[in-house]
Amino acid sequence: MISSAQSDPGCRICGGNTLPHLLNVRGHNLHRCSNCGFVQVTNAPSATELEAIYREAYFGHSKYQDQATLRAENQRRLGLLRQYVGGGGQVLEAGCGDGSFLYEAKPYYKMQGFDLAPAGVNLARAKNPDIAQQIWVSPLETLDLPNAYFDAICLWDVIEHIWNPRMVADHLLCALKPGGLLLLSTPNIDTVIARLMGKRWAFMTPPEHLSFFSQASIHQLFVNQLQAELVAWSSRGKRANLGFILYKLRRVFPMLPAFIPRLFEIRLLASLAIYVPSGDVQYVVIRKR
Ligand SMILES: [Zn+2]
Repeated sequence: MISSAQSDPGCRICGGNTLPHLLNVRGHNLHRCSNCGFVQVTNAPSATELEAIYREAYFGHSKYQDQATLRAENQRRLGLLRQYVGGGGQVLEAGCGDGSFLYEAKPYYKMQGFDLAPAGVNLARAKNPDIAQQIWVSPLETLDLPNAYFDAICLWDVIEHIWNPRMVADHLLCALKPGGLLLLSTPNIDTVIARLMGKRWAFMTPPEHLSFFSQASIHQLFVNQLQAELVAWSSRGKRANLGFILYKLRRVFPMLPAFIPRLFEIRLLASLAIYVPSGDVQYVVIRKR
């Protein structure tokens, strides 16, 4: 189990000891490893903070709000999965949220999924009654998975929420068959927009996000530390609706008048999907050797 304990003195990816201070975001300190470029929040959030983040409202009013945008994103993820993994395989989604991706992928694969948040799992089961038995509540960190069982594991926008990504990634690789694939998406901190925006970058939301990767630190984790093979890497923009963009803006600028996000709860406005060509989301495919 991941210790909820306090600051780890070294880099949680490569073990490096030189980690100059990078940012303080609303009281949370972040340090960047000089060796591998990984950026980590220094102090682990408390159980109370985590509970506050992932309670029901997280699935109702934030990124899960607009189904059309979510569907477009899930289609992109499914396209990536189908490009690399033959139909009919055993696929696990770690951090399945409200079950939207399970819904899109289940015609093609034997899907299973789990999530830390009971509120998410309840939604996921309601959306997927046919595979409700294969959807369960668990934190990633204490998960008990069979060895060498899955053809693929998907980790969509999850690894940035993890305190110790190295331990979790190692565990997930163990659950893959030899040659099995880990597919993930995560914000890319080594982009122009992230550098320009600093603490106002849309993904800079500690303690919701605790681990920030670049292409170099992804390589460090999976190739150097865990001896896996990096099959594909790309950094792309994101499709987002105005409601989500305003939700993010409000996290970054709490002084924004509350009525502005509320305007976008009007369905039509909220569902206007915009492609944001920020290039700050990485899509990565890793093969277990
Ligand atoms: Zn490092």
